[in-house]
Amino acid sequence: MLMCPATWLLENFMAPIRTLIASGFVVTFAGCAAAPEGHSPGRDLGLLWVKHAAEYAAVSTQVYGIAEQALPGFIEDTSWSAMPGQSDAAHLPTAIIFDVDETTVGHVDFQIEYERPFANWKLDSWNSNTVATPIPGVRQFAQAAQRAGVTLFFLTNRPCQPIAGNDDPCPQKQTTLDDLIEAGIATDADHVMLSGERPEWSREKLVRRELIARSHRIIMLIGDDLSDFIPCVRKKAAAPCTESATAASRRQSIELFRNYWGNGWYILPNPMHGSWTSLR
Ligand SMILES: [Mg+2]
Repeated sequence: MLMCPATWLLENFMAPIRTLIASGFVVTFAGCAAAPEGHSPGRDLGLLWVKHAAEYAAVSTQVYGIAEQALPGFIEDTSWSAMPGQSDAAHLPTAIIFDVDETTVGHVDFQIEYERPFANWKLDSWNSNTVATPIPGVRQFAQAAQRAGVTLFFLTNRPCQPIAGNDDPCPQKQTTLDDLIEAGIATDADHVMLSGERPEWSREKLVRRELIARSHRIIMLIGDDLSDFIPCVRKKAAAPCTESATAASRRQSIELFRNYWGNGWYILPNPMHGSWTSLR
């Protein structure tokens, strides 16, 4: 069973964790919404900005608007791929790869309200019991892409985790599908890929992107985290990555791939959580 590393540690090694916290040595993990001790969501400017600022909606709308303008050109140019290393793909149908959380559906209300510490089951429960909120601009963009004949894939690191009393080994898949449909995005189980859904689908999304690249020309990547675009950018390496990223290596990767930003790669703002939080 996969789970957020921080949750696993908290559940299995609470005593040593308390010792680490007491000694001032606190580690946070990529993808977990772990917050520093004494964190007050009501005074967290990142959370408040996403919740209240029209500027947040403006940025998201701007990102998706720019992506929509670029759609026809990338569809027409069969030599184009937004997946570094993909070649000889001119004959393949086109696809766009989206992340899910804070890219297609927003969770700011959960981030403000959930009882700390974070656990995946808390997010699962919240997702199951609330109607998903689309990120501003995503619905119009997704519908435009589908009208143009582009296939949409959704890669999420929501982990597959059994739930007591439910025979489904990955009940989070249906929840994620429901969230996307509630947000106004038409999709199905064949186009939503969760972490751990197959043994080789680690938190590192590269393996899933490479699988899609065998059958589709990937014209855009859209996400809120560096790992939605670039492999091996986490402090805790996940297969096939073997080395930890650093804050410096992450910044260098921005320069290395600079020609993609706003040109096939479209990143949404997320000041609430992400792989960056473990590499400050
Ligand atoms: Mg995300």
